[in-house]
Amino acid sequence: MTLTGPIKIKSKAVAQEFLDSFDSFLFDCDGVLWLGSHLLPSIKETLKLLTDLGKKLIFVTNNSTKSRAAYTKKFAGFGIEVSEDQIFTSGYASAVYVRDFLKLQPGKDKVWVFGESGISEELSLMGYESLGGGDPRLDETFDFKTSPFLVNGLDPDVHCVVAGLDTKVNYHRLAVSLQYLQKEDSVHFVGTNVDSTFPQKGFIFPGAGSTIASLACSSGRTPVYCGKPNINMLNTIVSAKNLDKSKCCMVGDRLNTDIRFGVEGSLGGTLLVLTGIETEERALEEDGDHPQPKYYAEKLGDVYELTSS
Ligand SMILES: [Mg+2]
Repeated sequence: MTLTGPIKIKSKAVAQEFLDSFDSFLFDCDGVLWLGSHLLPSIKETLKLLTDLGKKLIFVTNNSTKSRAAYTKKFAGFGIEVSEDQIFTSGYASAVYVRDFLKLQPGKDKVWVFGESGISEELSLMGYESLGGGDPRLDETFDFKTSPFLVNGLDPDVHCVVAGLDTKVNYHRLAVSLQYLQKEDSVHFVGTNVDSTFPQKGFIFPGAGSTIASLACSSGRTPVYCGKPNINMLNTIVSAKNLDKSKCCMVGDRLNTDIRFGVEGSLGGTLLVLTGIETEERALEEDGDHPQPKYYAEKLGDVYELTSS
């Protein structure tokens, strides 16, 4: 037994020590702040408390279905004011990767998107034309003799496939994506995030990682993943927001992405909340296939409820 296992935030003293230890907080969203369209208890109050204490708040989500602009609207819908530059999505991180690492040329090189508008909108803001994605012609039953994406051949300007969560996944989308992925010499393969599942209203649904795995299987290729726990995403955030890593805490509901992101990124601390995917038992496991959090709590709102009582 080590004496330095995860510390549960369940008293005013521990909650206060937690608050005093950090000047910046990186939050995962789904399972931490909300579950789908349902805001979790005392979230507004906790975020206000942190803001009033002068802490920097940054929101880091592996959900690629919404753009950063769409996320600010989601926050506003809950009565929480957050600016676009406080938000980092895996769709945005993938677009940054296409621009800064793959160095595709805007206005010339194109991207085939397997996923929703959160990817194509971010690419478009950087000047990239994307194909596929939410194109309604992909909703048609697949027939290789009539698919408009195949009858005139593949677009030779496509040099990357970006794949993320697509709740309209079907054979047509998988089949055309595979045609581009077979061009191994000229088309890169980028995945938004590895999450195999995500929680919503008491259900567990298939995540981006599950469908990207299907493309990886059929193409025999391994994508480069851009979301948490990829260290490139953390480096982008740290430099964009000018953060002191030792004073940052990553808050998440998933050990193998959120907590791994904070631990492998050498942040000062991590907080696991139990409102999403993990259990207390998993949080305390010492020999699991995941890092342990520094702190854990039943819910994020406990930080506010304990310190204000
Ligand atoms: Mg989450």
